[in-house]
Amino acid sequence: MANRCSSCGKLCALNTEDPEVDFDSISADARGILVKANVTLTRVSECCGDEVKQATFEPEEPITWDKLDGIEKHYNLETGEPLSDDHELDIDEGDIQATERSEGKGRGLKSFYGFEVGFVVRCSCNSSEALYEGSFEDDMQASHFEEIN
Ligand SMILES: [Zn+2]
Ligand SMILES: [Zn+2]
Repeated sequence: MANRCSSCGKLCALNTEDPEVDFDSISADARGILVKANVTLTRVSECCGDEVKQATFEPEEPITWDKLDGIEKHYNLETGEPLSDDHELDIDEGDIQATERSEGKGRGLKSFYGFEVGFVVRCSCNSSEALYEGSFEDDMQASHFEEIN
């Protein structure tokens, strides 16, 4: 279970870096939209900052049209198409943070590292109007992270 730093060769404690988040797709159909993200969590050695372990998550959330405030001003809900070229749904990331929790005690202690990522759905015609605010969160047991080297 011990982690070794590849720069200095010492056994090391790991820190979790801020999650890297990409909201790479949003797709619409007759029922609503599907918001997808790609989140990478990297754990680095405390001594040298070397990347030691990584995990990727692909959270997604279907959002039905009725949950999007005022969406009928932007999209045709029967076809899932924008009303005109001026309208395109976009996602802005909100607060992003790394999370940490543990289960059990003593030798049975399990550590989990994860993330919380907020997001806001907007239309390109009006960047100040939030149609929907949501968030993704997930985590993974430390020993299930992939070794980078
Ligand atoms: Zn080191
Ligand atoms: Zn619009």
